[in-house]
Amino acid sequence: MAFICSGMYAPVMGFHRDFMLTRNFNEFHTQKRRNDRSRSMHSVSMNSSKDSSYDVIIIGAGIGGLCTACLLSKYDKRVLLLESHSVAGGVAHGFDRNGIHFETGPSFYCGLEPDYEYRSLNPLKMILEISNAQLPCVSYDAFTFHFGNHNNTQTTKAVKIKGDADEYLNSIRSTFGKDAEHDMNAFILYMKDIFRAMENVPLMGLELSLRGLIRIFKYSAVSMLNLLPYVMDINAKLGDVLKKLNVLNRDCIRVIDLECFLLSGMLSDRTLTAEIAFMVGERSKRPLQFPVGGSRQIIQALLDAFRASGGTVQFNSHVDQIVLDKSDTQCARGVSVKHKNRSEFIAAPIIISNATLWDTAGALLSGNPRKVEGNSSFISADSRKVSEKYFADAQKIDVIPSFMHLHATFEADGLDESDGHHALVIDCEKSIEEAGNTVMVSISSVWDDSFGVPKGQHVVHAYTLEKYEDWERFEVLYKQFGADSKQISVEEKKTLRQEYELKKENRSLSLIKAMKMIIGDDFEDRISMKFIASPLTHARYTRRWKGTYGAAIVPPNKFPTPSTPFKNVYRVGDSVMPGIGVPAAAASAFLCVNQLVDENLIEESIQTHWNKLKEFRT
Ligand SMILES: Cc1cc2nc3c(=O)[nH]c(=O)nc-3n(C[C@H](O)[C@H](O)[C@H](O)COP(=O)(O)OP(=O)(O)OC[C@H]3O[C@@H](n4cnc5c(N)ncnc54)[C@H](O)[C@@H]3O)c2cc1C
Repeated sequence: MAFICSGMYAPVMGFHRDFMLTRNFNEFHTQKRRNDRSRSMHSVSMNSSKDSSYDVIIIGAGIGGLCTACLLSKYDKRVLLLESHSVAGGVAHGFDRNGIHFETGPSFYCGLEPDYEYRSLNPLKMILEISNAQLPCVSYDAFTFHFGNHNNTQTTKAVKIKGDADEYLNSIRSTFGKDAEHDMNAFILYMKDIFRAMENVPLMGLELSLRGLIRIFKYSAVSMLNLLPYVMDINAKLGDVLKKLNVLNRDCIRVIDLECFLLSGMLSDRTLTAEIAFMVGERSKRPLQFPVGGSRQIIQALLDAFRASGGTVQFNSHVDQIVLDKSDTQCARGVSVKHKNRSEFIAAPIIISNATLWDTAGALLSGNPRKVEGNSSFISADSRKVSEKYFADAQKIDVIPSFMHLHATFEADGLDESDGHHALVIDCEKSIEEAGNTVMVSISSVWDDSFGVPKGQHVVHAYTLEKYEDWERFEVLYKQFGADSKQISVEEKKTLRQEYELKKENRSLSLIKAMKMIIGDDFEDRISMKFIASPLTHARYTRRWKGTYGAAIVPPNKFPTPSTPFKNVYRVGDSVMPGIGVPAAAASAFLCVNQLVDENLIEESIQTHWNKLKEFRT
């Protein structure tokens, strides 16, 4: 994806250090194997030897952490996955009430089923395939964009978004006319040209280093040359490319803006072209898919694969800090896991954080207090300076806001597979980015009946961006992870809770309105169960800094890499790869893991995968 474009052509920084680390890691690993040590969980205290039962500790079992864990275990590393929550999945988790399953995160997927039928650029599909995971999916062919108060006429225009370019263009023409179709055609053709040039690059071989560059050239020299004419555009803001393509039609641009917003949380004037080319290209070739049982099944498939290859997962294990080495100020020794009345130190030579950039740089690396066991401080003044600068730099990166969520079951007949996904702009006279004006809707029960809803009913997850800052004053009602709990009186708490509940109702009105636009004005009468979640709920359950959707990185700025200022501390997840979302989180695993394993293992993995793909066999 964007790394293919930006990282490959940008000066490759810091690769020497990565080589050294790879070597050290492998030496360490070989030594461990020689010693034939037990794989069981074994914690050591801060003052004992540097020995460890694990080669790698991964902090967080989100999609990024799980994919990284699967790859490393596959490469025979001994991995401990520590998850703060009682369940895995991070953003991609859900909850059950009265026998019904509610999803709280992703639901838009493309080319996902690990069936080796074709080569998709979806990195999650690749990881599921090489992990021998099973994930049956339902394919469907369209979702719907709704544009309310179109041209200030109080009417709503709806357009079916399809992968097939001709059908998509027909849909645009019948809703917005020929000019919109003409401009959309120019856009789609160009995105597909870029995609064609990108699609033969082996995503599995991604690595930000000279050896990574050589590997990519080895497997796809022709593709790399084909990419050359597009390098500038791939790394540019899509808005600039649209100007170059003379895409001027307002309706067409609004549709493209909405596509961008769904992916990056920003409009075309700030979104990286590569992300959109990837999405348009992939969607034109591969089916839209929904995993049977929902996103929880992706998580289960990854967990099963990880455990099957010998990995260890520990839930309810909140890492409160990455413990830095006293003697080597640029190195970590392990992590400290928070228990009720104590902290447990677990050592490992490599630490990978799946927490967001801000949580990693902040709470995990420069958070206070820097004390574990017996109140002695283990951070030197130099390390503190480095970690504080890392956090200060991270804070200069803008964050996409958090979310309001509506979860409900409702009565409805006759919905089919193409009624599952919607994105609605409530009022076209306002910005798509305005909080509450754009709503994403997923009605998962149209794809399969495993969500527990009775016949004639459906389950919906509707969500819209909402600033965390507007809810901060309610933090005292719940202890947010990593936050100090403030004390307030029972009376104050009661009043504040009433205000909070009222605010939740008010701020969820746009979600209800969106559902009325889809189902009808009587939507509220059809509801049988309803839950509203605020940015505080979102942040609390996902353990994400201010409940953010991710990093708002505008070209020519680049996404931060998996490396950190500490030589054995890495990051994975959606603030590592452009795109935000499941593909970005999964691809970050390749980017990180490839730095840590032998070249022959990576090559073997790429070869085996390619050989097994049906389209290469036939
Ligand atoms: C409402 C919503 C809808 C979305 N829809 C889509 C979609 O349809 N398609 C799509 O592709 N993407 C979608 N996305 C984006 C996508 O879900 C995320 O980008 C992706 O799941 C993030 O994965 P991650 O691994 O980067 O991080 P996370 O999911 O945030 O996982 C991080 C994990 O680390 C754990 N953790 C954090 N700190 C600690 C700690 N100190 N100790 C231990 N564990 C810790 C967390 O509990 C969590 O499990 C959506 C996001 C949201 C919020």
